[in-house]
Amino acid sequence: MRRPIIAANWKMNLGRSEEALTFVRQIRSPLNKLEDVDRVICPPATMLSALAEVLQSTKIGLGAQNIHWDESGAHTGDLSPGMIADLCQYVIIGHSERRALGGEGESDEAIMLKVSASLAHDLIPILCVGENLDQKAAGDTQGFVGGQVRSALEGLEAEQIEKLVVAYEPIWAIGTGEAATPADANRVIGITVRGAIADLFGEETAQKVRIQYGGSVNEDNIAEFMQMPDIDGALVGGASLKPSFVDLVKRAA
Ligand code: PEP
Repeated sequence: MRRPIIAANWKMNLGRSEEALTFVRQIRSPLNKLEDVDRVICPPATMLSALAEVLQSTKIGLGAQNIHWDESGAHTGDLSPGMIADLCQYVIIGHSERRALGGEGESDEAIMLKVSASLAHDLIPILCVGENLDQKAAGDTQGFVGGQVRSALEGLEAEQIEKLVVAYEPIWAIGTGEAATPADANRVIGITVRGAIADLFGEETAQKVRIQYGGSVNEDNIAEFMQMPDIDGALVGGASLKPSFVDLVKRAA
């Protein structure tokens, strides 16, 4: 049995102390009581330290939104895995909004290095994959998303992979209000994402990896996604910025 996991991706929102702390103090207690589901908040890096303190005695996880794979060096503006490992337990890797920036820092190879570096620091990567609208229209979802999974994970060991979380986030569904249908999301997650993991590491390992759906998930549609056999949770953007995020998590349990 895979334990459900809902992760809040705040993106570049709630990055100032007062607004972030007020919001988290509001949702902390009800969120902490929801014991049948892992719940994780991924704030802007500016808030990691303060939220690590506020969430200290709770079971609410904390995650970063990106890392560099090197431990130190000439990487202006980046954070290393070691820098965040004392503060949080998770890190989002390869979000489509970062991949869209292009360049060496978000290439397939960079994403593979980030996954590997985060696992080496006992951070749980939330690896994001997903096709754009043209790829979907061309019937290339399976090839593209399967390729993203393979290139990010090749070379890792099966025991490392068991901790991993993957978020299947079709780009056309992110922030658009046009979520994938639960059946379509389940098919891509089961056949393409879990299938690629099974090809690389075997079916037993693939069955242990938690795979989220992401893209316009809210408190009204989460239950339908959670009914799907291969969907183990959600990565949530816009709907994680409101107090009703607690209801969303509640309906995922
Ligand atoms: C995301 O950014 O990961 C996301 C899924 O955003 P939204 O929920 O707003 O579509």
